[in-house]
Amino acid sequence: KTCLKEGYSPPCALIVAGSDSCAGAGIQADLKTLLALGVYGTSVVTAVTAQNTLGVQGIYPIEPWFVRQQLESILSDIPITAVKTGMLYSADTIQELVLALKQYSFGQLVVDPVLVAKGGQYLLTEDALETLKKDLFPLATLITPNIPEVCALIGREVESLQDVREAAKELLGFGAKAVLIKGGHNIASSELDDSCIDILLDSQGFEVYARPRLHTLNTHGTGCTTASAICAYLAKGFALRDAVANAKEYVFGCMEHSYRIGSGHGPLNHGF
Ligand code: PLP
Repeated sequence: KTCLKEGYSPPCALIVAGSDSCAGAGIQADLKTLLALGVYGTSVVTAVTAQNTLGVQGIYPIEPWFVRQQLESILSDIPITAVKTGMLYSADTIQELVLALKQYSFGQLVVDPVLVAKGGQYLLTEDALETLKKDLFPLATLITPNIPEVCALIGREVESLQDVREAAKELLGFGAKAVLIKGGHNIASSELDDSCIDILLDSQGFEVYARPRLHTLNTHGTGCTTASAICAYLAKGFALRDAVANAKEYVFGCMEHSYRIGSGHGPLNHGF
């Protein structure tokens, strides 16, 4: 018997992120997303977390020189057309990543600026915030902060949709080609009319993506999944705005079909 697809190469993407032992977020969510969307996923692990649906109990960072070695292994061999970064943990790890991205071709880059888990645990050291903005954002096709991350990045509160638009302009100033501010959190609900909106700003201006808000506890890993779904569609050659629209559709479906795992914020269902 022959292997039917031996001559076929699927689009390949690289995930640079932390491991989540309960597999709702992090590398595990990213790889499930890529598989579901028909993209071959490779992974560089930056940290291992002891984590469940109730929160993060421990973090074991991988040493930056070994993150670099993983990056070299992948980028020197596999033709990567899109990269997604999640939990990067330290300034030194970000520096290694930036050096590797400057050395190899990698296609498009989606940076999910993961700062703090829903339970409040820091997933990036405080001194790494500047490195993230100054050195990694300029390489990015897209950055995907949620509202709390936007506040941390610009150093002030964001309370209205007007504030979100202003913040998007300010964030583009760090050098990414586009910014997607995910509106699942914190905006005065009267203004949003029980819908969940994401606002994209790119060189063509603003684009608003709206969806009815899903009332579910199963939101663990929605941020990771959104960014990796965008990465998957970019790897497949979609234009940015279409990649974002399709990714939102995918995440909505994964939430709508989510089931009960653990006693806290459950994971999404990538296999519906
Ligand atoms: N753990 C890891 C390794 C992550 O990368 C992330 C988010 O990006 C989280 C946890 C946080 O997930 P959530 O805030 O959706 O619970």
